[in-house]
Amino acid sequence: MAKPKIAYVHLSGCTGCLVSLADTYEKLLDILGAVDMVYNLTLADQRELPEGKIDISIVEGSVCLQDEHSVHLIKEAREKSGLVVALGGCAATGCVCNFCRGGQANQPQHESFVPINKLVKVDAYIPGCPPAPEVIYNFCIAAVTGDMDYLKPFMAGEVGGYHCGCDLNTKVIQNSLCMGCGTCASSCPTRAIDMEFGRPSFNNIRCVKCGACAAACPRMFLPVEQIQKKLMV
Ligand code: SF4
Ligand code: SF4
Repeated sequence: MAKPKIAYVHLSGCTGCLVSLADTYEKLLDILGAVDMVYNLTLADQRELPEGKIDISIVEGSVCLQDEHSVHLIKEAREKSGLVVALGGCAATGCVCNFCRGGQANQPQHESFVPINKLVKVDAYIPGCPPAPEVIYNFCIAAVTGDMDYLKPFMAGEVGGYHCGCDLNTKVIQNSLCMGCGTCASSCPTRAIDMEFGRPSFNNIRCVKCGACAAACPRMFLPVEQIQKKLMV
């Protein structure tokens, strides 16, 4: 059976997500052995997305709306790919790029950076700044083997919509769903969350809007339909 064709598309990102993938050490060889990496500017000398269909495009970084090449590249990746995956906070939620305001040399007009779902349909999100190596590894293996049980939570369209600690306030804590497990606090890369009286407390000044806490919270994406069916309500 032909190996799935994978493209790694680098937009306005820091390459930290790719480094996180490489931080799987020898397991990286499992991934590279299981796929046909047809485009990856950091690792291979293939300058353009190849002609023809690509199975999965993994996208790192946000899109700068004033950069014609980036806008074209993400649209081309969407057109050619069966699945588009937003890897990391910048692609999934905008992350630190949400704070860009332009005005800096040598491209002062580069002022609007958006997560990729503002321009194209995204099939799966792996938030985090960067996402943990194990998560990227497990995701890649599940994508190659078609393990839908593992992939489903990443494919929930709403994952890309959550990007701030406040999302936990409105979606989890205010709905009495928080169980005080502290997972959000330990997943935050900037220590913007402290547990106080058994509940998370956010420091908005520290929050880089990566979406990691929302993605990690075990109470954020409850399979409501499944539960209702079981309870017959
Ligand atoms: S609170 Fe922390 S984990 Fe949550 S979005 Fe902000 S920086 Fe990311
Ligand atoms: S991860 Fe979710 S359930 Fe756990 S403490 Fe944070 S908000 Fe509460």
